[in-house]
Amino acid sequence: MKEFEYNVLPSRVIFGSGSVKKLPAEIGRLNVSRPLLLATPGKSNFSNQLSDIIQAAAITIAGTFSHAKAHTPTSVTEEATAFLDSVAADCVVSIGGGSVVGLGKAVSIRTGVPHISIPTTYSGSEMTPILGETQNGKKTTRFDPKILPAVVIYDADFTMTLPPAICSTSGINAIAHAVEALYATNTNPITSMLALEGIKALAEALPQIVRNPESKAPREQALYGAWLCGAVLGSSSMGLHHKLCHVLGGSFALPHAETHTVVLPHALSYNAPAIPEQMAKLATVFPGSDGDVLHGLELLLQELGVPRALKDLGMEEGDIDKATEIATGNQYPNPRPLEKQWIRELIRRAWAGETAK
Ligand code: NAD
Repeated sequence: MKEFEYNVLPSRVIFGSGSVKKLPAEIGRLNVSRPLLLATPGKSNFSNQLSDIIQAAAITIAGTFSHAKAHTPTSVTEEATAFLDSVAADCVVSIGGGSVVGLGKAVSIRTGVPHISIPTTYSGSEMTPILGETQNGKKTTRFDPKILPAVVIYDADFTMTLPPAICSTSGINAIAHAVEALYATNTNPITSMLALEGIKALAEALPQIVRNPESKAPREQALYGAWLCGAVLGSSSMGLHHKLCHVLGGSFALPHAETHTVVLPHALSYNAPAIPEQMAKLATVFPGSDGDVLHGLELLLQELGVPRALKDLGMEEGDIDKATEIATGNQYPNPRPLEKQWIRELIRRAWAGETAK
């Protein structure tokens, strides 16, 4: 066995349908008493449900801030932080997708108040010590163990309203974290085990959610998979796939989960010749692979009916060269060296919606 190092990230996870009822006890465990609820616009039903549970436990809610936005703009964080001060809140409770988890992290790291996160998509952000923020259109990313939420409550009941189309792209986004963890420079047997288990759970559950959106069991399985995929994202260095998606999302304002979904087969195909062992392991967790993971992934994407072309997400053909320049401007660890002409071809195929080869 190769030498490796493994860091366990400090996080507390409460998992299970109905587990949000444990929120008051978790607030008490952290020795705080005035939570500020964070949500995205249009999701006041989530914060209302939390309010009922918290108030039934005789805890005062300091306030609710429902203006979280994608890519964590610092202007929104400043607004939320000022509101937290004005209502004398001593902790934040974020409920929603990666956008509101990001706001919870940003407020918590600035103010020092603990953050309880209740994720309702599969982005996995709640398990990472990573915070991406945007200011004047520029995205910067920072790492700090203190960014990790103090507690994460995974309650699939809050994911039942997530439309199957968003489940699918959010789930492929999660799978992409785990795929890259398998060939990360700091990969190790523990993260690989979690990564494969996470992919398997999601690859099985997502088609079931599409076929039967009302069924709770696959929603729970997908949330479990998303947790594991988020955990490996938090402790692994990411390669070509994530760097490309970062460039595409940051420079051309493409939607996060959909971009990951379109790019994944192309990035995996690019790296495939350099990672035969990982491809063999991946083929065991994508149903229908029959030894060929790209085929298994293709079947899954077709079954989910997800977007397949960057041009359908708003990218212009003229941006292919610019994206290639930015994506190859800095060398970073990746199993296969970045070859500009082939990276351009990868982006062109993803833009056009061609099948990965
Ligand atoms: P999102 O939070 O914007 O949610 C997507 C949409 O789904 C929104 O319209 C939201 O209102 C809706 N939604 C969420 N939960 C729902 C539910 N249960 N029912 C109905 N609708 C629901 O998007 P996302 O893909 O979850 O997260 C993307 C953001 O997370 C990006 O800003 C990305 O950069 C960040 N992210 C960060 C990390 C990290 O480690 N720092 C990791 C992954 C993603």
